[in-house]
Amino acid sequence: MTPAPQTPPPRKRVVIAGGGTAGWVAATALIRQLAGLIDVTLVESDDIGTVGVGESTIPTIRTFHHFIGVDEDAFIRATNATFKLGIAFEGWDRTDARYFHAFGSVGRSTFVADFQHFWMEARRHGFAGDYGDYSLELQAAAQHRFALDRDETLAYAYHLDATAYARFLRSIAEPAGVRRVEGRITQVQQAADDGRITALVLESGERIEGDLFIDCTGFRALLIEQTLKTGFDDWSHWLPTDRAFAVQSTATEAPVPFTRAVAHGEGWRWKIPLQHRVGNGLVYSSAHLSDDEARARLLAGIDGEPLFEPRLLRFTTGMRRQVWNGNCLSLGLASGFVEPLESTSIHLVMVAVTWLIQHFPFGDDSAALAERFNARSRREWEQVRDFIILHYHLTHRDETPFWQSRRTLDIPDSLATRIALFRESAMAYQDQDELFRTDSWVEVMLGQGILPNAHHRLPSTMPAAQLQTALTDLKRGIAAKVGGLPKHADFLRRYA
Ligand SMILES: Cc1cc2nc3c(=O)[nH]c(=O)nc-3n(C[C@H](O)[C@H](O)[C@H](O)COP(=O)(O)OP(=O)(O)OC[C@H]3O[C@@H](n4cnc5c(N)ncnc54)[C@H](O)[C@@H]3O)c2cc1C
Repeated sequence: MTPAPQTPPPRKRVVIAGGGTAGWVAATALIRQLAGLIDVTLVESDDIGTVGVGESTIPTIRTFHHFIGVDEDAFIRATNATFKLGIAFEGWDRTDARYFHAFGSVGRSTFVADFQHFWMEARRHGFAGDYGDYSLELQAAAQHRFALDRDETLAYAYHLDATAYARFLRSIAEPAGVRRVEGRITQVQQAADDGRITALVLESGERIEGDLFIDCTGFRALLIEQTLKTGFDDWSHWLPTDRAFAVQSTATEAPVPFTRAVAHGEGWRWKIPLQHRVGNGLVYSSAHLSDDEARARLLAGIDGEPLFEPRLLRFTTGMRRQVWNGNCLSLGLASGFVEPLESTSIHLVMVAVTWLIQHFPFGDDSAALAERFNARSRREWEQVRDFIILHYHLTHRDETPFWQSRRTLDIPDSLATRIALFRESAMAYQDQDELFRTDSWVEVMLGQGILPNAHHRLPSTMPAAQLQTALTDLKRGIAAKVGGLPKHADFLRRYA
């Protein structure tokens, strides 16, 4: 007997609250990957608007764009994007010191010993040069050069216009089937028995029911916190900056292919060049600097004309105790915030959406999926947190109470162990699922002034002349590649 045809289970209804970068990234990815299996509705309020910052990214954005089928040319044109090869850190170790955290790998490692051990050995002989001499991305950035090629020679990310990016994603998501509803959410309804969210009610009276709710309402965290009272792990004792002034300005020079992160007495400032303007911001600790002083300091340090009044943004560093709670998952600023020193927030949104697609709750229960998701999220967030603390803690600056307090800080054990390992043996590592590669840890630890006491002695078994030749060849190869690249600004002009 042929089995009776079964009716397919009803499609899961996903409701996204909020249409900033997080909301539209989630909507686009979900509809591109799970169309036909789910319905997606996004609610956003034009009156409330978005946070309007978040313009520097890391290379994982490209992997994500491949995953959801974003066309790079269209993206660059729509968001006035420029290319980014890393971040220049100015004044972090000492006021006059500078180092670069470049994307891509540095030098050449072996199975036994990573490149920094070879560099340390060369240093012992006196012919090492700078560690950054062996980074293609750093050398290209230093000369303001960039080009795309088929071999993907350079590891790169983008600087983008955040508002235009949300608009661009919307232009993909809506035709693909996402339903957009404009309006202010005034009520979040819950089931009487288990507190599950059942619907969002808008000012207009419209009621939007769903099975899974994604909170992308920014710092308001309307669903995950205001409604579900999930709780927040506050990390501000480790990272005390809690405010930023942001302003865009006219460009006075050709855009460089890197973000600048310039330390000041009570925090740091960013400069992010786009095709048509520059994004500027001053991050600071309100316990150490007044808002008026911060605003004045920001404006005094910008090169062009400000395009509007600086906007004040308040934040607390930390993350939700559960990023996924019941039938509500939070993304973006609603899930937490670690300051943007390494441009990680948009990355965290993209990783979380990818995991959601992999862990999508098609059944009636999702407790085990949520538990696994939350454990992964926590690990990822804590690794990012540690990496950011590293920049503050390993400083020789002591001219202000802010920097003095950073040096003497009790840091998380996980970070203390890493620093001790590097100091003792030049050993660094990338943990399972970790964002930051070994090269990143080494670049920042060296840049922040640690010179390891010892290194792996494998390179010492090579004759010094052979080591020197190998390093010279590496530098020559990099110089030849960089010399063949056009200036970033020229490339952009032709490309965009
Ligand atoms: C100072 C600063 C600098 C940053 N720099 C970077 C960076 O360089 N790189 C990076 O990766 N990230 C950065 N970020 C983080 C980045 O801005 C965010 O991760 C990203 O913009 C996502 O924001 P969001 O979508 O979560 O929130 P938002 O942009 O705030 O969007 C919230 C959405 O929710 C809607 N909403 C809220 N309440 C309601 C309601 N009641 N009814 C209906 N709709 C509602 C709003 O209208 C809006 O659409 C930075 C953040 C800050 C604060």
